[in-house]
Amino acid sequence: MKLPPVEYEAPTTVAGAIDLLAEHRDEASVLAGGQSLIPLLALRLARPAVLIDINGVDELSGVSAADGWVAIGAMTREYVAEESGTVADAVPLLAAALPLIGHEAIRSRGTIGGSLAHADPAAELPAVARALDAEFVVRGQSGMRVIPAAEWFEGYLTTSRRPDELLVEVRFPAAGRGTGTSFQEVTRRHGDFAIVGLAASLSLSDGAISDARLAFAGMSDVPVRAAAAEDLLVGERPSTELFDEAARRATDDTDPPADLHGSPDYRKTVAAVMVRRGLRAAADNARERQ
Ligand SMILES: Cc1cc2nc3c(=O)[nH]c(=O)nc-3n(C[C@H](O)[C@H](O)[C@H](O)COP(=O)(O)OP(=O)(O)OC[C@H]3O[C@@H](n4cnc5c(N)ncnc54)[C@H](O)[C@@H]3O)c2cc1C
Repeated sequence: MKLPPVEYEAPTTVAGAIDLLAEHRDEASVLAGGQSLIPLLALRLARPAVLIDINGVDELSGVSAADGWVAIGAMTREYVAEESGTVADAVPLLAAALPLIGHEAIRSRGTIGGSLAHADPAAELPAVARALDAEFVVRGQSGMRVIPAAEWFEGYLTTSRRPDELLVEVRFPAAGRGTGTSFQEVTRRHGDFAIVGLAASLSLSDGAISDARLAFAGMSDVPVRAAAAEDLLVGERPSTELFDEAARRATDDTDPPADLHGSPDYRKTVAAVMVRRGLRAAADNARERQ
């Protein structure tokens, strides 16, 4: 289907984009890679009056590292982040998740900011951002706000960004020595959204777990942390028994959705397997990075 008639604006600066957002507020949609928005328009599931195309805003693209953080501009294409040596070295969990998004053609247009602003709970990057406590930098006419990942994802396809704010950058903490990561997922076909996905990160210090992070995709209307399992893991030494118990605690209180891809029970079973596999892989990776 063709797009419905829509007014089109193409600012070339962040300031210009923000002015347009302030003028049109929730009548406007920001157009980034268009890989989610254009299908929504074609299917009439989104009906903005104005499209604010930010593809010409060069200052929104790029990857940089400073002070233990990696900052990724909102318009950075998914494939650019995937090929970035900085991302591979400093944010290996993100590097592991990126190639699992759709296919090359999608990642060559899709953007880091677009995926995280769209906030699909089955998508890979929201789970990574939630696991790593990423920070979201938004700008509006009243200034800049930095929103922690725990407050960014508010509900299904809903974030705490206000309609007059632009997501300009996402910051990920750099993984230190002794931190190992793994991204696990089950999909029907390669390139599909996750039925269940897991972003896992474990830090080892003198053989014991000093930090544990587990965030699920596909288990709720937002990416969710498995806090009870994380609490269990910290201070313990990696073992099969520990990871089995962590898998139980991670899935005990979950209430995953039912859809044509799987029942809640199926998702819980898969999630427990993901936790065991993810923790094993992250622990092995942490030992290699000592
Ligand atoms: C066939 C297919 C398969 C796919 N498979 C996967 C998959 O397996 N995993 C996955 O995670 N994704 C998948 N995607 C989606 C892909 O990752 C998209 O690139 C991503 O979801 C949206 O990024 P985008 O840059 O295309 O954003 P757009 O589609 O342009 O925008 C998405 C939403 O975010 C808003 N937005 C974008 N940028 C900003 C900003 N800077 N500030 C404020 N709001 C903003 C838009 O207004 C819109 O509401 C798939 C897409 C297709 C077409």
